[in-house]
Amino acid sequence: MKSNHDVGSSPDSVRARRDEGKPGRAHPGRRGTMTVMTAPASSPPPSGSTPPARRVSRRIGSIAESATLAVDAKAKALKAAGRPVIGFGAGEPDFATPDPIVEAAVQAARDPKNHRYTPAAGLPELREAIAAKTARDSGLVVAAGQVLVTNGGKQAVYQAFATLLDPGDEVLLPAPFWTTYPEAIALAGGVTVQVDTDESSGFLVSVDQLEAARTPCTKALLFCSPSNPTGAVYPREQVEAIGRWAVEHGIWVVTDEIYEHLVYGGATFSSMPVVVPELADTCVVVNGVAKTYAMTGWRVGWMIGPADVIKAATNLQSHLTSNVANVSQRAALAAVSGDLSAVEMMRAAFDRRRQTMVSMLNEIPGVVCAEPLGAFYAYPSVKALLGREIRGRRPATSAELAELVLEEAEVAVVPGEAFGTPGYFRLSYALGDDDLVEGVQRLGKLLSEAH
Ligand code: PMP
Repeated sequence: MKSNHDVGSSPDSVRARRDEGKPGRAHPGRRGTMTVMTAPASSPPPSGSTPPARRVSRRIGSIAESATLAVDAKAKALKAAGRPVIGFGAGEPDFATPDPIVEAAVQAARDPKNHRYTPAAGLPELREAIAAKTARDSGLVVAAGQVLVTNGGKQAVYQAFATLLDPGDEVLLPAPFWTTYPEAIALAGGVTVQVDTDESSGFLVSVDQLEAARTPCTKALLFCSPSNPTGAVYPREQVEAIGRWAVEHGIWVVTDEIYEHLVYGGATFSSMPVVVPELADTCVVVNGVAKTYAMTGWRVGWMIGPADVIKAATNLQSHLTSNVANVSQRAALAAVSGDLSAVEMMRAAFDRRRQTMVSMLNEIPGVVCAEPLGAFYAYPSVKALLGREIRGRRPATSAELAELVLEEAEVAVVPGEAFGTPGYFRLSYALGDDDLVEGVQRLGKLLSEAH
């Protein structure tokens, strides 16, 4: 990843690099090993050299292209060129938005009151409905004034970090992580401290790991369950333990609940500020309609938090994007005010595909796939295949292997490099059953040639 300027794995290398980027800062007392990614914006130019004239600022020039969108674009381009590519890259449901929601938008488009600016924080009735939906679904009780309607969950993530972080503040980020988080943290001047997990813990971070990564500069923890990309779902006791640890140390939690309804195999979703109510004053919840109602293109999400934080974030949004498109807000209002029957139908389809995909992946020699219990992704390890010969090539990394898979099997997957953990593939199972089977068969056929 372009933004990962630092891949030091020993505490010494971590400190040396942080000190380069943060002159005059005290050494924090971090124990254990983890990766620190400093915001390039805050790094001075190398001593003795004059910075070249810049057309694009350091801050924006350092942002990496979204790897997941890049894989998707490459797959779509090959498809447009007539190649029969099967794409496992996209992070979106393959279903259409349910009719009643679309109908509400059609009506809204005809009403001139929706042709005008509305309050930056969102339509008052939508903020009310989101508060009511949150109490219904996760049990978190908030006032409408604590809800800010954003252009997708993505804007909520950016605004949460922009509102909470000062330059140099550290954010603990369990890896594998969704690609957007470190970019949002860096753009806000923050420092990502990556805390690695793997299949041995079911990709769940422990309090001990977080505590080892904590320093006096730690401002926040990013928590995502169900997880993109691993599909891991934290059990309630672990959510509680992490929440209590955060309260004890005055660490903010930004918790991404966008996959709250997509859980399988007996797993249940637990919202951290519900399980640990003491967190209410230092917690921001990110959510949206994209995954639950198959509404990725409508761009409606929200952030929920303490009134002062939401007010500050609203001020930011009032200068950035103003109100979310009213037609989309009206569609979201219909979505969150309605029942959950459509998501239950999608959930059942995803569960079926999940089981098919995981068992097929585990039959491929060299591929090991832990069972994902949420979201719509499988995250198999392909480490055993790296360095082996396939069709005259010897891919050394999961990124190289993913490229070979796209060229030779015409199957698009996102390599683990995009999520901070090389050695894995992310495959979305939000695609039709036939394509899914065909795609994993092609993958298996190619990878079985490894020697
Ligand atoms: N959080 C996570 C974990 C996601 O996977 C996504 C979408 N890929 C989002 C937030 C943002 O979704 P959107 O902006 O479409 O609402």
